[in-house]
Amino acid sequence: MEIVVIGAGIGGMSCAAVLAYNGFDVKILEQNSSYGGKAGQITKNGYIFDKGPSLLTIPNWIDDLFFSCGKNPKDYFNYFKLNHVTRYFFEDDKFTDVMADLNETAENFELSLNLKKEVFLNYFKLWTEIYGISEKTFLEGDIKFNYNFLKSAFIWFKHTGLSSIVHSMAKYNSSKLDNQNVEKIMNRFATYTGSSPYKTPAFMNQLAVVEMIKGAYFPNGGIFSVSTALYNLCLDLGVKFTFNEKVIALEENIKGIKVRSNKSEYNAEKLVSNIDYYITQKLLGRKIKIKTKGLSTSAIVFYWGIKGKFTKLKLHNIFFSENYKKEFAEIFNDAKIPSEPTIYINISSKLETSHAPKGCENWFVMINIPPRPNLVTENEITKVRNFIISNLSKKLKVELKNLINFEEVLTPETLYENTGAYKGALYGENQNSLRQIMKRKSNFDKKSKNLFYVGGSVHPGGGIPLALKSGINTAKKIIN
Ligand SMILES: Cc1cc2nc3c(=O)[nH]c(=O)nc-3n(C[C@H](O)[C@H](O)[C@H](O)COP(=O)(O)OP(=O)(O)OC[C@H]3O[C@@H](n4cnc5c(N)ncnc54)[C@H](O)[C@@H]3O)c2cc1C
Repeated sequence: MEIVVIGAGIGGMSCAAVLAYNGFDVKILEQNSSYGGKAGQITKNGYIFDKGPSLLTIPNWIDDLFFSCGKNPKDYFNYFKLNHVTRYFFEDDKFTDVMADLNETAENFELSLNLKKEVFLNYFKLWTEIYGISEKTFLEGDIKFNYNFLKSAFIWFKHTGLSSIVHSMAKYNSSKLDNQNVEKIMNRFATYTGSSPYKTPAFMNQLAVVEMIKGAYFPNGGIFSVSTALYNLCLDLGVKFTFNEKVIALEENIKGIKVRSNKSEYNAEKLVSNIDYYITQKLLGRKIKIKTKGLSTSAIVFYWGIKGKFTKLKLHNIFFSENYKKEFAEIFNDAKIPSEPTIYINISSKLETSHAPKGCENWFVMINIPPRPNLVTENEITKVRNFIISNLSKKLKVELKNLINFEEVLTPETLYENTGAYKGALYGENQNSLRQIMKRKSNFDKKSKNLFYVGGSVHPGGGIPLALKSGINTAKKIIN
C-alpha cells in the first residue's frame, strides 16, 4: 500500500521509517529543499545554527526507533549526557547552575539562592513519581477514557491531591518553595509546552523531571544531526523523498485522499500529515473555528555570530526578567510582545567548535511572544533587539552591538513560511488549562479513516521526543 506523508519533520520521518520497515511504500512530500522542518539548520558565513530546538531530552526514544527498524542507532548518530545543564541568571547579578545530578542542583540552589536543599528535594520527589505514571499512561497511545487511564489517573490524584489540578503551576510552586528565584526556574518548564506557568495546572510540574532527572543531552554535530539521522534511516528503509514540493490542496474521496501539490497529483490510500493540524484542515477546505487565544507561544529568535568568547556563558543560558508574572500576562492576557522578556541563549559552539569561526561564538537568542505574526513589525524587532543588546551588555559588561558580525532573525511569519506553523505557534495549542490538555488534537482524523496527524501540534505534544512518539504511535496504528 502506498502511503503519502506531507512534511519531512521529526514526526513525519519517524512515522515514515516505521511504516517503510513494515513493508509499506512511503513517499514524503516536503516543501523545502531539505529535511528537518523546525529542527533544520542554517549554515552561513562560517556559522552553523540549529534553527529551532536546542535542548535534546529522552534520546533513548530515538535509539529505540532505530532498534525497532532493525538498525543500530550508533551507525546514524551519537550523543552524550550534559553534566552542566543550564545556567540561570537573575537581576542583581546572581546566577545558579542546574546540573545532571539533582543533589548537586539542590546544593547549588541552597548556596546561591538560599533555598534549603531538603525543601527542594522533597518538592521534587512527588513529580518524579507522577512522571513515571504519566509516561506509561499518556504518551504511549491516544488518550482514551478506559480502565487503564482511570486507574492511572486515580493513583495520580491520590499522590498529588486536587491542588495539582485546581491550582496553577506558579501558585503551587510558590506555596511549596517560597523562593522567588527557584520558583522562576521551575515555572519556566511551562514554556516547554508554549504555555503560561500562571495558567497551566500544577501537575505540569512533572515536565521538569524530563530534564532534571532523565537528563539533557547533546548530539555530536548539534540537534540537526537528529534530523539527519532520521533522514538517513528513512533512505536506508526505502522511503522516497521529493523536495521543493508544496501541497496546496487535499480532497477526501472514497478511495482515500487526493493530494494536489505545486508539482503533481497523488491518490493516497492513506495520508499522514506532519503539517500543523489547523493548516491541514485548511488544505482540506474544512471550515473550523480557531481561537488564537488557545495557541502556544511563538518566538523571536536572533541567530547572532559573535566576535569573542564568553566564559561566563554555558551551552544553555537563561536571563530571567525581573517580573515573570507580568511577562506572561503580557503574552497571554494582553497579546503583546513582553516589554522586558526573559532571554534564552544557546551557544552550540561551546561544544561543537566547528559551529563558529575561530575566536567567535554562535548565539541563538530567543524570547517568547504571542502567536500573532502581525505584531512583529520591523519596529518591534528593532525594539526587541535593542532591549536584548542593552540588557546583556550590562550583565556581561561588554558593548554587545560591536561584537555581532552575523545576524538572521526568525519571526512567527518566517516560522509559518518555512514550516507551516499556524500563526508561528511553536507547539500547536497551549496547555493553559486541563480542558486544553485533554482536548489536544488526536493522531486520527474524526471524519476520514485514511487521514492521520503527526508532529508537535497533535498528541502527545510538541518537542522532539513527543513529535517522534506521535510518528511512531501513529505508524503502529496504521500497521495494525
Ligand atoms: C524556536 C524553536 C525552539 C524549539 N526548541 C525546542 C527544544 O529546545 N527542544 C525540543 O525538543 N523541541 C524544541 N522545539 C520544538 C521542536 O522543534 C518541534 O516540536 C519538532 O521539531 C516538531 O517536529 P514536527 O514533526 O512537528 O515537524 P515540523 O518541524 O513542524 O516539520 C513540518 C514539515 O512539514 C513541511 N511542510 C509544511 N507545510 C507543507 C506543505 N504544504 N507541503 C509540503 N511540506 C510542508 C515543513 O516544511 C516542515 O519540513 C522548538 C521549536 C522552535 C521553532
